[in-house]
Amino acid sequence: MPSYVNREKCDGCKALDKTACQHICPNDLMVLNKEINKAYNRDPSMCWECYNCVKICQPQAVEVRGYADFAPLGGSCTPLRSTDSIMWTIKFRNKQIKRFKFPIRSTAEGSAVPNGGFETHGDLNNHLMSCDPQASGLKELATIKN
Ligand code: SF4
Ligand code: SF4
Repeated sequence: MPSYVNREKCDGCKALDKTACQHICPNDLMVLNKEINKAYNRDPSMCWECYNCVKICQPQAVEVRGYADFAPLGGSCTPLRSTDSIMWTIKFRNKQIKRFKFPIRSTAEGSAVPNGGFETHGDLNNHLMSCDPQASGLKELATIKN
């Protein structure tokens, strides 16, 4: 089931130009209705349930059905992020509640190097991966010559 926004909890990210859920969705699905200051998923059929919007929303307004391997049918799961961990609250359909806390970082917040220290060629239209060939441990990658 795709993500959906609980309007009672959404505060429109306090009228920022771009809301957190808009910023994070890799599929560009979240939209802010500026008249009521509430976000919504504009095309649920395109949502691949990546949980990014669920995890980034501070008031925990975005909900999505948990994968069946960790929340049985009828259950709900709500994440709560901190700087170094994430707490999942699982509510089962018999109202039982369980919480699981996991570390989410191996580096201090803000210290990650986006390109991993490799040189990037900076050309988004290039068919090579951004940090290749060094990231693959090669001097140069094979290319098809015309
Ligand atoms: S991130 Fe949460 S609070 Fe902000 S606009 Fe999206 S759903 Fe609403
Ligand atoms: S679950 Fe992922 S793909 Fe779906 S709306 Fe949220 S961020 Fe976008």
